[in-house]
Amino acid sequence: MKKVKKITLKPKLSLFLKILGLILCLLLGGFLFYRKQINDIKKVGYSELASKNILFASKKSYILSIGENETLNKVFEEKTYKEEYLDSYRKINYVNQEHFIENVNKLLDIGYSVGDINIIFAHGNDEAVSRFVKREKVRYLEEFFTIKYAKLDNYDRYVAYSDATGEDETTTVLYVNLDLDKEDYAEATLVKDFSMDMLINKHRYLEEDFIPKDLVEIDEALASEKGMKASHVALNAYQKMQKAAEKEGYSIVINSAYRSYQDQIDISNSYLRAYGQNYVDKYVAKPGFSEHQTGLAFDIGSRKVNVFENSKEYSWMQENAHKYGFIRRFSKQKEGITGFRNEPWHYRYVGVEIATYIYENNMSLEEYFVNFIDINE
Ligand code: ZN
Repeated sequence: MKKVKKITLKPKLSLFLKILGLILCLLLGGFLFYRKQINDIKKVGYSELASKNILFASKKSYILSIGENETLNKVFEEKTYKEEYLDSYRKINYVNQEHFIENVNKLLDIGYSVGDINIIFAHGNDEAVSRFVKREKVRYLEEFFTIKYAKLDNYDRYVAYSDATGEDETTTVLYVNLDLDKEDYAEATLVKDFSMDMLINKHRYLEEDFIPKDLVEIDEALASEKGMKASHVALNAYQKMQKAAEKEGYSIVINSAYRSYQDQIDISNSYLRAYGQNYVDKYVAKPGFSEHQTGLAFDIGSRKVNVFENSKEYSWMQENAHKYGFIRRFSKQKEGITGFRNEPWHYRYVGVEIATYIYENNMSLEEYFVNFIDINE
């Protein structure tokens, strides 16, 4: 009986195996074909996920004709692409921002050109762009934002400032980025960290308890009074400068250096008694807004001539201070930008590299800050 059963089962089994084999072959073939399609796309520079989605969207030949494109890769990874924007996506420079594709879609919906969109992403981080896409389409985008340090968030202020003053785009963006469209001391920015390139002015202030971390006492041989203090890094540089000046026959002296928040209150009060409120408002920095609180600023005098500006020491400083890391901080020419009147005696330590750049390019620290420090990440 057993033998018979086996014999009768054999043809059925072999048919079953044949069909199974055929199915497996088809599946394997299909799988290999599918893998080859994916690999073709990956080879061009797309991720596994993007390649799968490209294949399922029947966009393989389109993608192969384009080649590697980071923005298209992201678009297909997220599966948020719109058919009609395919040719736009590929012309948009990829930016590593969380809501990049979502924002690209919104900007295209609003009607911005790919050129505009590239400008927008170059001037704002993810938060700034996400705010910007909620607005209606703006005008003058290219005018302001061909300036590399223009900020998306400042757009309305650029338009308002330019309308109110008639200034060109370059001046407008510079002034607004420095908050010069706001009243002095109003809505000022708090600066917390000590650094040799820190910027303190009428729009950027220090807290009452801010003390430079490397504050040291100044040797009284260098100063006009006992007990003055300064940042160590700045004082070191000053000593080198003073020696070099001396070698050439010029005699400079420190008349004022670090001033605490309380010192600035005392100075304000004494000027108030002597000259009145108008004078104080105009010429004396409010407590927290004086660069002297950083320990990096020095008021320098000549040991030979009372009025520093008339001294040979002043001329020497003009030519040489940058070699030691110091800049002439407040000049007549830059009054509109620094917010302080001409102060020939006031020097600020920023390090040799920055000081040399500022000297050679006839800049203010404010302009340097806007160009190189306060830029979008
Ligand atoms: Zn000063």
